[in-house]
Amino acid sequence: MADTNLTAILYKKDDLRLEDKKIPEPGPGQVQLCMKEVGICGSDVHYWTHGEIGDFVVKAPMILGHEASGVVSKLGQGVTSLKVGDRVAIEPGVPCRRCHYCKSGRYNLCADMKFCATPPYDGNLARFYVHDADFCYKLPDHVSFEEGALLEPLAVGVHACNRGGVGLGNKVLICGAGPIGIVNLLVARARGAAEVVITDLDQSRLDFAKTMGASAVIKVSSKDPKVTAAQVEEVLGEPADITIECSGAPPSIRTAIYATKSGGCVVLVGLGPDLIELPVVNASVREVDIRGIFRYVNCYPTALAMVASGKVNVKPLVTHRYTLEQTIEAFEAAKRGEGVKIMISCVRK
Ligand code: NAD
Ligand code: ZN
Repeated sequence: MADTNLTAILYKKDDLRLEDKKIPEPGPGQVQLCMKEVGICGSDVHYWTHGEIGDFVVKAPMILGHEASGVVSKLGQGVTSLKVGDRVAIEPGVPCRRCHYCKSGRYNLCADMKFCATPPYDGNLARFYVHDADFCYKLPDHVSFEEGALLEPLAVGVHACNRGGVGLGNKVLICGAGPIGIVNLLVARARGAAEVVITDLDQSRLDFAKTMGASAVIKVSSKDPKVTAAQVEEVLGEPADITIECSGAPPSIRTAIYATKSGGCVVLVGLGPDLIELPVVNASVREVDIRGIFRYVNCYPTALAMVASGKVNVKPLVTHRYTLEQTIEAFEAAKRGEGVKIMISCVRK
């Protein structure tokens, strides 16, 4: 039977279809990949249910998926870094390589970034996909395809902890125990944080965080951010050195500022409403730095090394598994908020 290329295409809001597409051919510097595992991210679900995220609007049919791994099935002209059969993780954003940001090493800020499943660029939830070879990372044999796909969210944690300067002996607060909060927990622990306390509204997410190494968890019950901050201080014995905000919820961002010690740092990972009210004078007069992050930059090699060496175990994040044929079912489960990470296998059954 000839190879087919079953592909998950978002036509518009609430209109996700599986269609057979032409198998793409690699151009110069690219590789064709036989896709193996693709994780569903909150953004994939959001494009499906809302058709847009901020300024990024789905105006034409777009293939979903960006947390992915695969096997090299064809080499484009000039590719020498990989060979057919190599197992790889795919860094989903390919920048222009020419602008100031690219040349100065902060390519995540490139205005011409082509990022999988961010309109207008296609993602890789398909049987076959083509990507630039230098944004594919060869996986050692003992690193699974699921772990390869999980390098994507893990890289967000690596970048956030880099930006926050998390290090030996730090007391860290993480707000929000979704997949992104959890990868930050794993990275903070691996970087030698002495204590990591994590907050959420949902007890099951906190229970999971506990199994992933949180030293303490706090179920947020008060609407007053100062009350939650006081709980954090009680648990840590003092305010947090560094807070990594991973919910995007305005009350939680306020808590993040109040709960961080003077001279400390708040890293804003969670993306919520554009305009919100924050205690900026409190942050100012206590010299609490507020730093944003956008995805990751130069973090895939670190994320891979951490997984390959066993310093970080991302495997328990995968709670649900579906096949490419079951994509709609998988997205329905993700929409219902089930589990932590839902993984789709693109391997033909
Ligand atoms: P998620 O929705 O699965 O997790 C968010 C968690 O925050 C949930 O468990 C929720 O219960 C919790 N939460 C909500 N309100 C809260 C509050 N007031 N206090 C404490 N916890 C609260 O999402 P995720 O996939 O883990 O992603 C987290 C955030 O990170 C999202 O906003 C996402 O857009 C953002 N994100 C940003 C980047 C970036 O580059 N900056 C990259 C990836 C994800
Ligand atoms: Zn650039």
